[in-house]
Amino acid sequence: MSYSFNRVEIDLAALVGNYLEIRAVVGEQVRIMAVVKADAYGHGMIRAAQSLYGAGARTFGVAEVEEGALLRESGLEGEVVVLLGTPPESYTDVVRYRLTPVVYDLETLAGLAQRAAAMDVVLNVHLKVDVGMGRLGIMPGEIAAFAQAFKGLPSVRLAGVLSHFPLADEQAADPQTTEHLERFKAALGRLGETGSGGVFHIANSAGLAYHPGSQLDMVRPGIALYGCHPGILPNGDCRASSLTLQPVMSFKTGVIQVKEVPAGTGLSYGHTFVTNRPSRIAVLPVGYDDGYLRRLSNRAEVLIRGQRVPVCGRVCMNACMVDITDLPDAAGVRPGEEVVLLGRQQNGEITADQVAGWLETISYEVLCLFGSRNSRVYIEEG
Ligand SMILES: *Cc1c(COP(=O)(O)O)cnc(C)c1O
Repeated sequence: MSYSFNRVEIDLAALVGNYLEIRAVVGEQVRIMAVVKADAYGHGMIRAAQSLYGAGARTFGVAEVEEGALLRESGLEGEVVVLLGTPPESYTDVVRYRLTPVVYDLETLAGLAQRAAAMDVVLNVHLKVDVGMGRLGIMPGEIAAFAQAFKGLPSVRLAGVLSHFPLADEQAADPQTTEHLERFKAALGRLGETGSGGVFHIANSAGLAYHPGSQLDMVRPGIALYGCHPGILPNGDCRASSLTLQPVMSFKTGVIQVKEVPAGTGLSYGHTFVTNRPSRIAVLPVGYDDGYLRRLSNRAEVLIRGQRVPVCGRVCMNACMVDITDLPDAAGVRPGEEVVLLGRQQNGEITADQVAGWLETISYEVLCLFGSRNSRVYIEEG
């Protein structure tokens, strides 16, 4: 039982809708790895993965072994790829839970091979190449040597080769993304006579949306599944693509007090907002402890009765104030009235990208923040 005023709602039908939209855009020939790391970007990893499995997803991406183990413990079938890495202590669980590790060094490859052999398993492994991200991965020139190493280790199978784009969301950087893709394809060419390298994949949401030529054998959408466009233009608009996405997360609270105050009243710590007219102020039980960060002070807007009203004064640990004076029916707003901080209400909508703009960050961080700090309620499909 939760008595919290605050809740994050997860619309599972929208999640499935986004998956099916991505499926329609990439076609039946391209596999989809549903990226559910970071608790499915705050949406709840297990529920998200189960819904996506129901919609046809058979490959899932997580960052760490622990997440993969949780998915298996929940009963999830299919392939679970561990994108970030596998410390030696985790090798037994990697094999036991039939996870698919991503490797980028020979020590890990040898260690995993040894463990798999000891447990009498042939382990699928994906090899990561760095073609411009400057993060994880072997350099393209090393690929043949790694493919050769696989040949000497019968307990591991090269089931895939992947890379990652650093700039695929940025229109101005499209030529560089094309170059990164070409570098990846050239590296794949160097697999040589070692035979098949399995599944080739590089495209995140931005790759699949803005660079269709990068879809290759498999795409790895994260943010698009959760209903946000990966690319934002310099003017703040979403970069258009062929994807039609639906937001999955909403964040709601309720008014706990309404008060009328005279002109000249300072609100909240520091009195950074002082009323310049007689005002009607609503107090909301949400603050930075709930992920509604202090940077939203005097910046953000929320929805009440479908209309936008501004956050006034500093956001506190568990409370903030909004000025409802300009609502047409302000006098009717009472404690208990629903307030939407993210999502839709009547004809109003506040998107994760808008909140991200106020926070000077990206939608990804907003979803992780709100989702991880609040109790979630799932709205079932159908
Ligand atoms: C997180 C991640 C993705 C998903 O990226 P989005 O931009 O959310 O689509 C894909 N691939 C890798 C390796 C990742 O770490």
